[in-house]
Amino acid sequence: MAKKVALFPGSFDPLTNGHIDLIERGSRLFDHLIVGIFQNTSKKSLFTLQEKIALAEEALVTLGNVEVVGQTQELTVASARRLHADYLLRGLRNGKDYEYERDIALMNAHLAPEIETVFLLADETHQFISSSLLKEILHFHGDISPYVPANILDALEKKGW
Ligand code: ADP
Repeated sequence: MAKKVALFPGSFDPLTNGHIDLIERGSRLFDHLIVGIFQNTSKKSLFTLQEKIALAEEALVTLGNVEVVGQTQELTVASARRLHADYLLRGLRNGKDYEYERDIALMNAHLAPEIETVFLLADETHQFISSSLLKEILHFHGDISPYVPANILDALEKKGW
């Protein structure tokens, strides 16, 4: 049987324990899971793309079937095709995520009917964690240690956050 390959695209700025939970669960569903780090050109990022890739690889080192790739300026479905991924993995935290993700998934299904988007419900302990909220907390020098992997926290501290 063909291997089930999924792409989990996101900006991961920063990678949170919510993302890690989704990646762990995804790695049990698929034979191979590719974490695609997309640098959002319109938003200022905490880390460079290369830093994000290195940090994600370090945080996910125990998951043998997970690979981290970086991607700029390409449609998600084009990346999936290039990487031979038949599935896109996304997380749903709440109704707002659902509204947003539904439009993207339907559009992607038009653009690439052979690619299926699979949603996992955010687990209840991570539902309230978002990278954008963590950036707000960081801005005001609050403590984000319960919400991110240890290596991300170290890297943020080294950058003076
Ligand atoms: P994007 O900029 O593409 O939305 P994010 O890094 O914010 O990228 O999110 C990538 C994916 O991870 C999205 O599908 C999002 O719903 C999911 N996600 C984000 N935070 C969590 C969380 N706390 N629990 C589960 N899934 C999450």
